[in-house]
Amino acid sequence: MIKKQLVIVGSGPAGYTAALYAARAQLAPLVFEGSQAGGQLMLTTEVENYPGFPDSILGPDLMEAMRKQTQRFGAQFQTSNITQIDLSKRPFTLTSDENETIKAQAVIMATGASAKWLGVPNEANLAGRGVSTCATCDGFFFRDLEVAVVGGGDSAIEEALFLTRFATHVYVIHRRDSLRASKIMVARAEANDKISFTWNTTVTEMVGDDKLQGLRTKNLVTGQETLLPVQGCFVAIGHTPNTEVLKGQVDVDHHGYVVTHNSVRSSVRGLWACGDVQDRIWRQAVTAAGSGCMAAMDAERYLEHEDYTLNRREPLEGLDW
Ligand code: NAP
Repeated sequence: MIKKQLVIVGSGPAGYTAALYAARAQLAPLVFEGSQAGGQLMLTTEVENYPGFPDSILGPDLMEAMRKQTQRFGAQFQTSNITQIDLSKRPFTLTSDENETIKAQAVIMATGASAKWLGVPNEANLAGRGVSTCATCDGFFFRDLEVAVVGGGDSAIEEALFLTRFATHVYVIHRRDSLRASKIMVARAEANDKISFTWNTTVTEMVGDDKLQGLRTKNLVTGQETLLPVQGCFVAIGHTPNTEVLKGQVDVDHHGYVVTHNSVRSSVRGLWACGDVQDRIWRQAVTAAGSGCMAAMDAERYLEHEDYTLNRREPLEGLDW
């Protein structure tokens, strides 16, 4: 069994920033990085809007740099997933997918949210090669090209509007004949002559070998199948916050995001949530990093107050576990 003062679950900008602050506070946090360290930025190419990189930085390079910086101050990493958390009493009990039991006085959840994918043939092969779930990240690469956005909510319309800065035309493909997005967003999209709507239509296949060349679509009313020759496809059908392990134990909103008070405090004492697992609005690397900092500073104060930080770098044997 592992005993730790602070465990951080998740390894995106929120998790690594929380770990950096906690490590510098000599809490020697243990970070569960999941099966793929680095989070959603590992799936992007150039990151141009993270402050401090005037020439931009590749998503994976940024995450590697954050990890190294965190490691320098004594954070420990484990490349496994947390599959269970028992928050009913402190210390909390966590179980990893390697069947390891971890006791922790405080936990920071930074498990992020996963963009939903359509699940159609060839989509996974072409992810990052014309198929994306983030226009803010990848839109720039579609200058003077035609692209499609799939979805009918605020995200889809926001992505479509953003993409008009680069693309020559944006097709919004929606499975129904009316949008779910807010009226003001719809009005903006309708007023933009670079955007057109393809109603009652689903994408049935993504076409291309090493880059996207088109979308096979089907009209759900007429049954007509079409090949739409676009070079980019942005799937904007929502995100799923990764809160499965907290189910029934922590307040979540009706979308499943952890409800936080005073920025990052969850409804359970000793548990904080930062980054996309509690943010369905901004969802940026820099906002996630900021909230990771807040979570670590709160956790440090909490641990100080609870007096668990005596002999900080020593194993916690002998304390009242
Ligand atoms: P959303 O509101 O849940 O919309 C998802 C859209 O994707 C819906 O139009 C849905 O179709 C469609 N969809 C879902 N699964 C699909 C599938 N398998 N195949 C094809 N289409 C599918 O998600 P969101 O747009 O990401 O927004 C999430 C929340 O964040 C909302 O509350 C939204 O208002 C908010 N948000 C706000 C802003 C803003 O204010 N600037 C920006 C982004 C998001 P149906 O309509 O048929 O269900």
